[in-house]
Amino acid sequence: MGALTFDKLKEQVAAGEIDTVLACIVDMQGRLMGKRFHAAHFVDSAWEESHCCNYLLATDLEMYTVEGYAATSWAGGYGDYVMRPDLSTLRPAPWLEGTAIVLCDVLDHHHHAPVPHSPRAMLQSQVKRLQAMGYTAKMATELEFFLFEKSFDEIRKSGFKDLDTLTPYNEDYALQLSLRDEVVLRPVRNALYAMGVPVECTKGEAETGQEELNIKYDEAILAADYHVLGKHVVKDVALMKGHAASFIPKWHRDKVGSSSHVHQSLWEGNDSAFYDPEDSLGMSALMKSYCAGIIKYAPDYTFFLAQNINSYKRFQAGSFAPTKAVWSVDNRTAGFRLCGAGSKAVRMECRIPGSDVNPYLAMAVQLAAGIKGIEEGLELSPPADGDVYEQGSVTEIPSTLRAARETLANSAFLREAFGDEVIDHYTRAADWEQEAYDAVVTDWEIQRGFERA
Ligand code: ADP
Repeated sequence: MGALTFDKLKEQVAAGEIDTVLACIVDMQGRLMGKRFHAAHFVDSAWEESHCCNYLLATDLEMYTVEGYAATSWAGGYGDYVMRPDLSTLRPAPWLEGTAIVLCDVLDHHHHAPVPHSPRAMLQSQVKRLQAMGYTAKMATELEFFLFEKSFDEIRKSGFKDLDTLTPYNEDYALQLSLRDEVVLRPVRNALYAMGVPVECTKGEAETGQEELNIKYDEAILAADYHVLGKHVVKDVALMKGHAASFIPKWHRDKVGSSSHVHQSLWEGNDSAFYDPEDSLGMSALMKSYCAGIIKYAPDYTFFLAQNINSYKRFQAGSFAPTKAVWSVDNRTAGFRLCGAGSKAVRMECRIPGSDVNPYLAMAVQLAAGIKGIEEGLELSPPADGDVYEQGSVTEIPSTLRAARETLANSAFLREAFGDEVIDHYTRAADWEQEAYDAVVTDWEIQRGFERA
């Protein structure tokens, strides 16, 4: 049970128990991309390094060769990156027969330095900054998604019309109803457990067909690794069972969207550096400055929580999806919610990211903003209460991709934390998502104007 050592993998390959190794990088969209190795070749040589086309960190959801990136282009010849397996991430892949899985870091092909806009490298660089300050970040993400009766192939062939969900009405905490999801979710929980991913639970969520997967908090990079593995396993198992699992944040205008809240706390050794028993809410001075930072810079980094056009369709008043950069004590209408107040589990939950979030990027930018808050000694404003959607005076989170693109491109804070190269790269990604969308003539326009215009 649990993670695999390289020696154990070699034994299992020699014994014929494992014949395939998935070697994966994490792309800008937070997907696992890579190769299926014959395990004999992996333990012989590919464990050291393998290669992938460098457009993998400059493409969109549809794998288009997007022009305008400095890092790679047709003119630059679309060369290779090195995929270097991080052997500490080696795990069995028990939902597949005879298979193991490993995550890879993405390195420059010539000088083997980390590629700066690689999401895993961006998180690693902020974790190192925190280490230098004497802290470890512990994070968790919640994964919401919808399960559908039909498979992706059937749904695509129906023109995305055949979209009955696996459950027929709101399944929030509904144990009898969510029994229908168990065909997918029991194998998911058991596979994650056997991989050493500390799965806590699944639960029915507050919409027809919606489910949530909770994984226990851990050090930031591990927590992000758990997220991408968890999402991958959910989608794979759903596919294998003839269903579809979708992580699009807003699949239907009348249905609640799917989020991916991020929980965060800083630790010194085995103690939470966020906890102060003397404070009325149990929040240390460090936690207050950190939280002031993540709130102050939320408009700057919103793009990294919401990269797609569809991500912004989820931000609606009265829907549990936040629109304001304020914090609250256990109030789900604010962008940031204090959880575990007055206890050692005190932490801040960021409620902005949708289910399409790339967890490495979301965690990296929030750590950078928290570090900035600590460095600036920022004061935390009092918590908001009541219905935050109705409060006019507080900072709004950019509500469109265009607005988030502007705050991203013009953020001195992000440029200082990640470098111009990285911020220019993601600004191009934001521009492209907008350009691709603007070029489409939608069903809505045709239905609205075809006759009446
Ligand atoms: P709720 O049900 O209110 O959303 P949970 O108790 O399910 O809250 O916790 C949500 C997530 O927060 C879980 O993934 C949990 O592991 C994580 N979590 C708990 N304590 C901490 C902490 N100190 N730092 C970061 N995450 C934490």
